Amino acid sequence: MEELINGFTGFAKKNIMQAPRFSQRAEAPTGDHLNFDPDELAEIEPQDRRWSWLEIDLNAIRNNVRVSKNQIGYGCRLCAVVKADAYGHGAVRVAKTALNSGAEYLAVATVDEGIQLREAMINAPILLLCQPPRTAIPLCLGYKIMPSIYTPEFAIEYGETAHAYGVTAPFHLAINTGMNRIGVRYDQVVEFLRSVSFHAQLDLVGTFTHFATADCPETFDFEIQARRFVEAVNTMQASGFDPGIVHCSNSAALLRYPNVHFDMARLGISLYGFHPCDETRGFYNLQPAMSVHARITDTRTLALNDGVSYGLHYRGTGGNHICTLPLGYADGFNRLLSGKTNVIFEGRLHPQVGNICMDQCMFEYLPPRREVLPRLPQIGDEVLLVGKQGNAEITIDQLAKECGTIPHEIAINFSHRMPRRFV
Ligand SMILES: *Cc1c(COP(=O)(O)O)cnc(C)c1O
Repeated sequence: MEELINGFTGFAKKNIMQAPRFSQRAEAPTGDHLNFDPDELAEIEPQDRRWSWLEIDLNAIRNNVRVSKNQIGYGCRLCAVVKADAYGHGAVRVAKTALNSGAEYLAVATVDEGIQLREAMINAPILLLCQPPRTAIPLCLGYKIMPSIYTPEFAIEYGETAHAYGVTAPFHLAINTGMNRIGVRYDQVVEFLRSVSFHAQLDLVGTFTHFATADCPETFDFEIQARRFVEAVNTMQASGFDPGIVHCSNSAALLRYPNVHFDMARLGISLYGFHPCDETRGFYNLQPAMSVHARITDTRTLALNDGVSYGLHYRGTGGNHICTLPLGYADGFNRLLSGKTNVIFEGRLHPQVGNICMDQCMFEYLPPRREVLPRLPQIGDEVLLVGKQGNAEITIDQLAKECGTIPHEIAINFSHRMPRRFV
């Protein structure tokens, strides 16, 4: 080994001595060369800077809103859940599209997500699906982001701060009916409201709970939660508290349980075209909005036993056509998918091979069986990693199954290094 390295060093040195020096060959520019104009450089499109991108089909979003509106019927509001950058689809564009096609309300998970929508001139009511730190109260009031409230301390400080600013303090009451994540316990709601209701600024705009098992085949636990929620709302009304907008359905409940729609349904995963569970498949025409695209950046043909990617776990049988794509697990193309997913090229599936790297991955082009001289893929050719072309389809559901997770996580993980193109 040492000999090999020593030998190599000597070889490299000799070559460097003989190599022409680049500085002697390159001519310095002499006057009529191009200047770099930052404004012109800024016009180079994202997909011309990097050959991998996401496409978001806003028509699919429109379709999914319409399907959901039909399901909940007239008089029930639709709240588009656009948290986590609209499940990775781009919060501002999705929110505007959803509002233009029938949604009346928006929901986010953090104060900053709400501020991003306001800064994009979105005026619809925004519900924050949590109770933020008390230090964030001025932001909630300033940007009109309604918090979910479940502690008296927060409620009182929220009311007092609103009073100081001379505004009202709208909020939704979160009730815990069994998921045990956030909320006032379902049988302590009236007690809670009595402890804060002296505050004139506080304005109870809505009352909600969240289901733990709306997407599970078993319906028993769901029914218990639904019953506790109805009881809590009835008790509120009987004690003189107006619950405002009553809501509890997520996507799964919206599609499966028409009797719990009440005044509003919160549409998350199916807004983006994914089925929350197998039970809803086949009944609703949801269209996935996200597809993942890349262009080939390099190609080669393997000799027998040549390996591919870190670990060289994939080995060639001789003559394999390997193509490289410029996206990897840093872009959200999960490394657990290595060797377990396909790409679509010219309407047919080809296997991804070798470990998925941080920024790149490889696939093997399989020529059509009957073709004698197939056109081999070239640098710059487009492939699909998620989407549908001809009879070939790769879904985020399939990727989620391979990774042992749910489609939410796969979609959200496509990072901001991937440009989003709205079509
Ligand atoms: C995320 C979330 C939703 C949306 O759920 P989906 O299953 O994606 O429809 C609804 N309500 C609350 C409280 C949530 O946190």
